[in-house]
Amino acid sequence: MKHIDVDNIESMPSGMLKEGKVFSFKCHSGLACFNKCCRNLNLFLYPYDVLRLRKKLEISSDDFLDKYTDVIMRPSGFFPEVLLRMSDNPEKTCPFLTETGCSVYSDRPDTCRTFPVEQGIYYDVKKGSASPVYFFRPPDFCLGQNESRQWTTESWAKDQDATLHNKMTAMWAGIVNLFQNNPWGDEGQEGPKAKMAFMAAYNLDRFRDFIFASTFLKRYKIKQEIMTKIRHNDAELLKFGFAWIKYFLWGIETNNFRPR
Ligand code: SF4
Ligand code: SF4
Repeated sequence: MKHIDVDNIESMPSGMLKEGKVFSFKCHSGLACFNKCCRNLNLFLYPYDVLRLRKKLEISSDDFLDKYTDVIMRPSGFFPEVLLRMSDNPEKTCPFLTETGCSVYSDRPDTCRTFPVEQGIYYDVKKGSASPVYFFRPPDFCLGQNESRQWTTESWAKDQDATLHNKMTAMWAGIVNLFQNNPWGDEGQEGPKAKMAFMAAYNLDRFRDFIFASTFLKRYKIKQEIMTKIRHNDAELLKFGFAWIKYFLWGIETNNFRPR
């Protein structure tokens, strides 16, 4: 997910797909490049990616984060980024790559799902608006770009079952954009607020315990229909987590809960 500020429009990456513009692409196992793209990647995982992957693997959020990710902080950033850790072999293959392809295909991350299209969010700070932008950027070795099948960004997202992933990633991008300024104060980036925000986004098992097994429900009233949804649906719990981060860090009001 790229963040593009209207004041830095000159830095817009190449390959932008304007609305309705088509691109040619088809990926299949008959191509000489098959699986070559699944190695040596800086593959950023967004909160919904982690939710889907750890469910697919039937492991806890803690185990997934420990076993499969590196959590890094950019020098200029105020919120850590989560990267999928490549395997410790000469080719640094993705841990989910097998000879026959991706072993987590139905739950692959958003970036893999939309590849070779990249989604960005275009922020107009003056207007306070945000809108998605798309780029067609296959690497040179990707032979799928020579195939004749044509797509728009909409038909590609539908074909790859990426609509919900794209939506959840865009929601997260809106929060990441708020982290342009330091929200941690004297606590710093290792303090309790930072740990809380990371938990609400990336560790839903612990966040669920925080909601249902701490004093949270004594302190906050949650609407009954929201309560039912977040008890049983991880995607709804994640959306609730996004609302919680915005509320406790920036005081942004939400309809999901209110102090008692
Ligand atoms: S390099 Fe491109 S065409 Fe080849 S397997 Fe990867 S996505 Fe498909
Ligand atoms: S998750 Fe699947 S599609 Fe993505 S890099 Fe790994 S093997 Fe390839």
